[in-house]
Amino acid sequence: MTSNDTSRNFERIDSGPLFGHSSFDEHEQIIFFSDKDTGLKAIIGIHNSVLGPALGGVRMMNYANENEALNDVLRLSRGMTFKSAITGLNLGGGKAVIIGDPKTQKTPELIKRFAECVHSLGGHYITTEDVGTTPQDMDLIRKHTPYVAGISESNGGTGNPAPISAFGVFMGMKAAAKFKFDNDVLEDKVVFVQGIGQVGEALIENLMNEGAKVTISDINKERMAKVAAKYGVTIYDGDDIFSEPMDIYAPCALGATINDDSISRMKASIIAGSANNQLQNEARHGKLLQDKGILYAPDFLINAGGLINVYAELENYDKQEVMRKTENIYNTTLETLKRAKAEGIGTNLAAMNLAKERIATRKLERSN
Ligand code: NAD
Repeated sequence: MTSNDTSRNFERIDSGPLFGHSSFDEHEQIIFFSDKDTGLKAIIGIHNSVLGPALGGVRMMNYANENEALNDVLRLSRGMTFKSAITGLNLGGGKAVIIGDPKTQKTPELIKRFAECVHSLGGHYITTEDVGTTPQDMDLIRKHTPYVAGISESNGGTGNPAPISAFGVFMGMKAAAKFKFDNDVLEDKVVFVQGIGQVGEALIENLMNEGAKVTISDINKERMAKVAAKYGVTIYDGDDIFSEPMDIYAPCALGATINDDSISRMKASIIAGSANNQLQNEARHGKLLQDKGILYAPDFLINAGGLINVYAELENYDKQEVMRKTENIYNTTLETLKRAKAEGIGTNLAAMNLAKERIATRKLERSN
């Protein structure tokens, strides 16, 4: 074989369906499982296991096609690596997807088969709940493998992570306020919470206790009315939230709300919310925010409270320790923001660099 032939081979690999996939980023393992009897079609992605076993939820969704499912598992498992690393947990990043409608195709047999797939990896991947799966599914999985967290409270689990996630977001928001306004008290700060589900509502409670001026928006009007009455917050029912004057924008519904369009209109000084993957394009929109002087508290850093809570199940630590670790999101956020400023880079990139350094240090320690 000539050297030209070799380079052609590499080219072919680079443009292939997995190693050449736009979301592939040096993932260690991607494992495909299928089972004719139960209809299970699952993919488990282990992005990086340097810091520990790869933990991440199993998402069951009616994906339009196989590529959409693969893209999700590649993207989400990578995200878990950086979330665990920056939070200081001894966990790697993993994720699983099951292709199918959870409402019509999720059977106990299918979940059992999935549990056996997880078990076959010998603890290299630990599963937990995500969109389309529940603590009850995790209880069933636990019957077939110990490599699961997020089981229901009645079975010894740590319970609903949303209030802990919200507390972490609140800590990250306060750290961002400290950095931006030199004062972390949010009293009288105008905060827009977009998405008032489980995390959004718990965040509102924290904000109201501190005297913030909260406005809420959600597609669920009934829920908005209920939450507004309960906490005395203002409802936003316009269709241009980003043009509204505000101190802090807290995205707690969907990802990708920070994009060319929203940034061009954005009046907020700080962005700090729970939604995953808030930046539509990490590099581009991280830089645009930096240029515009909008301080972004990286999502994967400040929404890690739920992960800390689940991790407690594996490490047998108590609620107090969960709260202490979650409170520490304040310090990590401040450290990240200071570093971004010192290096003249976007805050998301600074957070990624911190996470990557922790992984690189551990790798070095292991090889010595
Ligand atoms: P949830 O489903 O309880 O709440 C989401 C809310 O967003 C709902 O009230 C929904 O009506 C609203 N919503 C949906 N589309 C909207 C839109 N276009 N505009 C405004 N509102 C909209 O979810 P949750 O558990 O509160 O999680 C919220 C976000 O935080 C999600 O992105 C989730 O991935 C992320 N997150 C959650 C946790 C956790 O512990 N639950 C942890 C980390 C990250």
